[in-house]
Amino acid sequence: MKTLFIVATPIGNLEDITLRALRVLKEVDLIACEDTRVTKRLLDKYQIIKPTLSYHQHSQVGRLDKIIAALESGKDVALVSDAGTPGIADPGGMLVSAARTAGVKVVAIPGPSALVAALSISGIAADRFLFLGFLPHKKGRQTLLQTAADSTYPVVFYESVHRIKKTLEQLSSLLSPERPVIVCRELTKIYEEVAAGPISEVLSHFDEKNTKGEFVVIIDGSK
Ligand code: SAM
Repeated sequence: MKTLFIVATPIGNLEDITLRALRVLKEVDLIACEDTRVTKRLLDKYQIIKPTLSYHQHSQVGRLDKIIAALESGKDVALVSDAGTPGIADPGGMLVSAARTAGVKVVAIPGPSALVAALSISGIAADRFLFLGFLPHKKGRQTLLQTAADSTYPVVFYESVHRIKKTLEQLSSLLSPERPVIVCRELTKIYEEVAAGPISEVLSHFDEKNTKGEFVVIIDGSK
C-alpha cells in the first residue's frame, strides 16, 4: 500500500508551485487530475512526463475504485485539481475519504488556494472567517446569501463568471450601504484585479464591463 499525495497547484501563474510539489509529481507513479488538459500545461512547463487519469465531479465510482486499486497495488498517486488545493470546493474530498477507508496513507503537499490568496490581499482581518464555497444556484441560495449578510465574521465564497453580476445584485439588497466588499478576479493571472468598497461601487465596477474570469468574493463581518 503506497501513498496518496494531495498536491496544491497554481491558481493561475504556473510559477506558484512548491519545490516539494514538483518533486512529488516527478516521483509518483500516477497523477489523478480534474482535467488532464489543464494539468498537462503544468507538467509540460516542468518537463514532467507521467501517466495521468481524469478524476472529476462527474467521474463514475469505477474511476475512484481504479485509483484506490492502484494505491493498493503499491503505486504512489498524486491528486491535483485544475487550480489550488484539491478538496477545497472541488471533488478531491471523496477520493481522500475513500483512501482513508481503504487504509491508504494520505499526505498533504500544501500550496496555493484562491480563498487564502484573496484574503491575504483583502485588508480584512482574517483571524476567523466563514467560507461558503460556491453558493447554490437555486435551492438554498437565498438562505446562504442571508447567512453571508448576517455574519459577524468575514465571509468568503467562490463565484463564476456566469453569476457574479447576479450575486452582487442580490447582495446589494441585503448588505448595508457601508459594508466593505472585496471582489478578487483572476488572481495571479494577466487580467488580475481587485475591486473593493461598498457593494454599490463594486457592483458598478463589474457592471461597466463584460466581466470574464474567476472570482473570490469577500464581505467583511457585520459590526
Ligand atoms: N481548490 C481550489 C482552491 O483551492 O482555490 C478552488 C477550486 S473551485 C472548483 C474554483 C473556483 O476558485 C473558481 O470558480 C473561483 O471562484 C476560484 N478561483 C480559482 N482560481 C482563481 C483565481 N486565479 N482568481 C480568483 N478566483 C479563483
